[in-house]
Amino acid sequence: MSRSSRKKDRTPPEVPIFSDRLMQVLETMIKGEAPNAGHFCGYCYTPIDRARMHCPHCVKAVADYPPVVKVPSDVAEMFRKVRRRESLVVNSFAQFGIMLGVMTFIVVFYFLFLNDAAIWWYVLDVVLLFVLSPVLAGLIGGYLGDEYAYRFARRKLADEWAAFDAEREEQRMAKVTSP
Ligand SMILES: [Zn+2]
Repeated sequence: MSRSSRKKDRTPPEVPIFSDRLMQVLETMIKGEAPNAGHFCGYCYTPIDRARMHCPHCVKAVADYPPVVKVPSDVAEMFRKVRRRESLVVNSFAQFGIMLGVMTFIVVFYFLFLNDAAIWWYVLDVVLLFVLSPVLAGLIGGYLGDEYAYRFARRKLADEWAAFDAEREEQRMAKVTSP
């Protein structure tokens, strides 16, 4: 039920739990520019200062969620998927833009053919194809695609984080209740 109500929500699904700082860290880790090592919040994995008693991002107490020295591979994988999904969507939109350019070319060509147009019009049509396609790819991919990709990837991330969090909480509870 909560799932369907969330789908109706038009605002971009934010994942407050993934902090910008964590995103930056994961970005450099995935590029291989930084090792997966440090001092991270035990709940949201935002890098935190050793002196802190609470995470500055999720405000969980360090006592409740002991900091960890590395980001779990599941979390790093979630981030990798965000980037993969984003580029997949942007590329698909860009390809659609190219297709639109090609279709315009065909329609114009057909029109010229019907009207027995001079050869120069055909040359112009070809020029149009080469100019229009990349422009449409850039506009549709970079503008519409980018916006949609962000929402899509974030929505998926929110689902994955919820599943990850539920499982983790279950393990935590099991540990707490067992002697
Ligand atoms: Zn935190």
